Amino acid sequence: MNCLYCDTAIALEMSWRNLLFPTVQPKLCESCDRKLLLIGEACCESCSRPLKNVAPKYIKENKCLDCIKWEQDPNWTNTLEKNISLFQYNDFLKEVVARFKFRGDYELAKIFSGELQRQLRTIEYEMLVPIPLSKERLLERGFNQSEALGQVAGIETDHVLERIHSERQSKKTRKQRLSQQQIFRFCGDKKQVFEKNILLIDDIYTTGITLRHAAKVLKEAGAGQVHAITLARG
Ligand SMILES: [Zn+2]
Ligand SMILES: [Zn+2]
Repeated sequence: MNCLYCDTAIALEMSWRNLLFPTVQPKLCESCDRKLLLIGEACCESCSRPLKNVAPKYIKENKCLDCIKWEQDPNWTNTLEKNISLFQYNDFLKEVVARFKFRGDYELAKIFSGELQRQLRTIEYEMLVPIPLSKERLLERGFNQSEALGQVAGIETDHVLERIHSERQSKKTRKQRLSQQQIFRFCGDKKQVFEKNILLIDDIYTTGITLRHAAKVLKEAGAGQVHAITLARG
């Protein structure tokens, strides 16, 4: 077995314990594994932003200023309950995500499976919905990275959203994007989501606007609460 990231052979520790109780095969070598860091405790309750280097005046009741602003905006109050990010958005993670997403290395999604499965066991949800890509982007990339994360971890996902706006707009400012009416359309059966507790899955939470647009469409279709899980808080 070789490291999925750097291809170094992974030396498996041979012990009686491992022989008797084979654990999950490690996906990364020790040196890469040390760079994949969990986000830890001290982060915003609503969006998982690490609060370690945030000045106290920008934190209110364990929430970052961004989240407070979102909740104060009447357009977005109670749209997205919470985002849970798994890992620190450090150089290593950025590089892994770039390779996975932009260079199409599907296998790399396996690096995150263990932690994703572990977190999903602690979250109450009834349906896992990946953030969809536009048809052009999907064709270009070959797979949807949000769906791939669930797939390789053996977790079922439901496709009830469709992207009606291309991703090219991501270069625009936050304000421009906020003003845009819709990014997604509901394409499932409304009975399927009615009062359901839905968990969205995406790779990175950056401004939170994409997830909120998705959550809004789901709520308008009748969903109960909408939470999100992402690899990292950008
Ligand atoms: Zn490695
Ligand atoms: Zn926050």
